[in-house]
Amino acid sequence: MSKVAIIGSGPCGLSILRAFQQAEIKGEKIPEIVCFDKQSDWGGLWNYSWRTGSDQYGVTVPNSMYRYLWSNGPKECLEFADYTFDEHFGKPIPSFPPREVLQDYILGRAKNSEIKKYIRFDTLVTNVKENGNQFSVTSKNKIDNKITNEFFDNVVVASGHFSVPFIPEYDGMNSFPGRILHSHDFRDAEEFRNKNVIVLGSSYSAEDVALQCYKYGAKSVTIGYRNNAMGFKWPTGMKEVHYLDKLEGKKAIFKDGHTQDADAIILCTGYLHHFPFLEENLKLKTHNRLYPPKLYKGVAWQDNLNLFYLGMQDQFHTFNMFDAQAWYVRDLIMNKIQTPSSEEIAKDIADWVSKEEKLEDPLQMIDFQTEYTVNLYNEVDYPKIDFELIRKHFYQWEHDKVEDIVNYRNKSFSSAVTGSVAPIHHTNWLEAMDDSMDTFMKTKL
Ligand code: FAD
Ligand code: NAP
Repeated sequence: MSKVAIIGSGPCGLSILRAFQQAEIKGEKIPEIVCFDKQSDWGGLWNYSWRTGSDQYGVTVPNSMYRYLWSNGPKECLEFADYTFDEHFGKPIPSFPPREVLQDYILGRAKNSEIKKYIRFDTLVTNVKENGNQFSVTSKNKIDNKITNEFFDNVVVASGHFSVPFIPEYDGMNSFPGRILHSHDFRDAEEFRNKNVIVLGSSYSAEDVALQCYKYGAKSVTIGYRNNAMGFKWPTGMKEVHYLDKLEGKKAIFKDGHTQDADAIILCTGYLHHFPFLEENLKLKTHNRLYPPKLYKGVAWQDNLNLFYLGMQDQFHTFNMFDAQAWYVRDLIMNKIQTPSSEEIAKDIADWVSKEEKLEDPLQMIDFQTEYTVNLYNEVDYPKIDFELIRKHFYQWEHDKVEDIVNYRNKSFSSAVTGSVAPIHHTNWLEAMDDSMDTFMKTKL
């Protein structure tokens, strides 16, 4: 029997475990599976931790989520086709849940799948290298330091790419008297109440961390973009200016001449695709983009088609795209789908990459990633889901953000699986200070 190693039990790792389990239910013979996770529990980033830096064993903490984080896209865009929100919660829930609610949903499907038996927790994969037609995988148990070396026919890298921060340096940082941190280490906006906060970046973390600081009472929030401003209608107390030039004492001086006294600087400057456990010829090298190179169908490593990556794209679509990828990878591993010649593979990758390079705006990017996801979905037996409706939801969501960045989370969307329409949440996001599942699940009084 062939043997498969899966690195990571976040949403991507759980998707492929689910895909194998679904094949097994249908009576198919599945490979022997070992899933490794360096954390003590499953769920990847959704598994909140107060920790930053390294854990009690000296292993770097992957968690980048923070208190009061709510979904930044409608849940209807990420719903699993084979395990709906209505099924999990027993009733329709609002479209933008907080982290704990989404974690409960992800883990609900995982528990329902009986896949925990495959996961070795507290086990860090330290080395993966080619060994003939196989891979040699070395792992280390964090608790007893036991090192294990095993051989696998396939390796699936599902280790995420939002855990290793990209941290730039600006003049004056060493003598800045306040706090400097990356969004990876941001845990709680309350810390910045009554402070003048500078947020650097112009993507989702910059947008959400800045709004969090505003929501929890920062004195002022100044966002410094590098290339393109987000350009939303920011509320009074927030502004967006051009790129930080330098710091002089506590004064931040921006490229457009703007100055602002600052108590804290939060670097929302993105993450590195970082795979220290992979030997060089197996390592994906990319920035955060919609079609990383050298991945056939966005998942199979061009130079060794027994190695797979899941979820390495920049993401509009998340959980159901991870599922489409996972189902596809499962079918490649189980030889239900055959790969074409190396020439056709190279051409397919080049076509997607060149299409991606021509994208000009978020709507085109949404179309691109929807087309990519549907391309995989059409090849596998993943249950019915209306990706065309999801595409339209993303368009509406982009429009809602442009209209009102503070209130876009108060909108309702319909399920692309069941058609169920989400109720409006009992409290507007800006006034909803308590993000616990108990409070969220209460219905409107
Ligand atoms: P991860 O969730 O990162 O899981 C990877 C797992 O691999 C981890 O458990 C880690 O411990 C393990 N691992 C890593 N290296 C090793 C190793 N060497 N050995 C063993 N185990 C290892 N998406 C949404 O859909 N909605 C949101 O609202 C949303 N909010 C987000 C907020 C933040 C701040 C961030 C950073 C991301 C957010 N995302 C959101 C996107 C997020 O990337 C995905 O939802 C999802 O968590 C990605 O799953 P993953 O399995 O690829 O990676
Ligand atoms: P990202 O989307 O990769 O964006 C990185 C940002 O860093 C870009 O705006 C980039 O600007 C900027 N940057 C890089 N180097 C810089 C520099 N030297 N100076 C200034 N800016 C610099 O990463 P992200 O924003 O951290 O998002 C990661 C993931 O987290 C996404 O999937 C997102 O959806 C998720 N997220 C979700 C929530 C939520 O509310 N649920 C909150 C936060 C994050 P340029 O464009 O100029 O290169």
